[in-house]
Amino acid sequence: MAPLHNRVSQKELKERLLQETTPRTTISFYHYFLISDPMAFRDALYLSLSSLQVYGRIYVAQEGINAQISVPSDRYEELKKLLYAIEPLNGIRLNIALDDDGKSFWVLKVKVRDKIVADGITDASFDMQRKGKYVAAAEFNRLTKEPETVVVDMRNHYEYEVGHFENAIEIPSDTFREQLPMAAQMLQDKKDATIIMYCTGGIRCEKASAYMLHAGFKNVYHLEGGIINYAQQVKEGALENKFKGKNFVFDNRLGERITNEIIATCHQCGQPADTHVNCANEGCHLLFIQCEACAKKWDGCCSAACQTIIHLPEEEQKNLRKGLDKGRNVFNKSRQRRPKLTEKE
Ligand SMILES: [Zn+2]
Ligand SMILES: [Zn+2]
Repeated sequence: MAPLHNRVSQKELKERLLQETTPRTTISFYHYFLISDPMAFRDALYLSLSSLQVYGRIYVAQEGINAQISVPSDRYEELKKLLYAIEPLNGIRLNIALDDDGKSFWVLKVKVRDKIVADGITDASFDMQRKGKYVAAAEFNRLTKEPETVVVDMRNHYEYEVGHFENAIEIPSDTFREQLPMAAQMLQDKKDATIIMYCTGGIRCEKASAYMLHAGFKNVYHLEGGIINYAQQVKEGALENKFKGKNFVFDNRLGERITNEIIATCHQCGQPADTHVNCANEGCHLLFIQCEACAKKWDGCCSAACQTIIHLPEEEQKNLRKGLDKGRNVFNKSRQRRPKLTEKE
């Protein structure tokens, strides 16, 4: 039997990848379906994907699969065939990353998890198989014209802040697990309304739609493939675009512009801005919105205190960082937790 784990060092594997000249395609996909034996599923998947030289990160849970992988481009069709041969995955959408060099992964990791999206749900009667209906871009546009339709953003507050659908409701929490009960609470008098949940790529809102049904809501939809897929459909089908601003994504760009409107403001001076940065002081690293003028004025820092720190000798900065626990250091405007950054001392 072939080994189920890599035996070569990470460093060596990375070097091998960087020397590879065959182009790679980066793909992501997820699917909620019942996997009764995640461990066995994991082992079989690991073996078959290894044979195609697939690299990446895959989570397998009883509720489904979530994958970010890369494959040698000339083996893409083989990969597709292999995945589609797994009955519940037959025909699923494989999202191809367009502006990607395929060098993000150099090892294949398939991990068994409790859930593919942590949700904090403890109710054993919650059933991920009973989820809302998919809605594509054209149908989304049609439904949102009806006055009774409620659109709910299931992303984090900082994602909502720089871009969202017209009239979308923000669920002002830092975590998805808190957002689920909060959404049901906020909409408790809308149990018969048409409710459309959305998120970046669809994985969160699909779970949220199941949660809302579980909580007694009757007409629940979720945007198929999330904002990413919506933006593509709008472009390809020349449809009306109801998303305003930037789609926040976790890569080096920290966001992909969808329309030219800037709907957020600089957290330091209040001028229109929607560029997320991390505070230049490593001991702070706060995620916040900063305009170009403020970036210059504060040397990329969130406060005068941080600006002072980055000009100290490196040794002193290291000492200051010792024992610091930043946790999830995010400027949360929706909670007014840090009303004025520059006043922070
Ligand atoms: Zn500013
Ligand atoms: Zn800072």
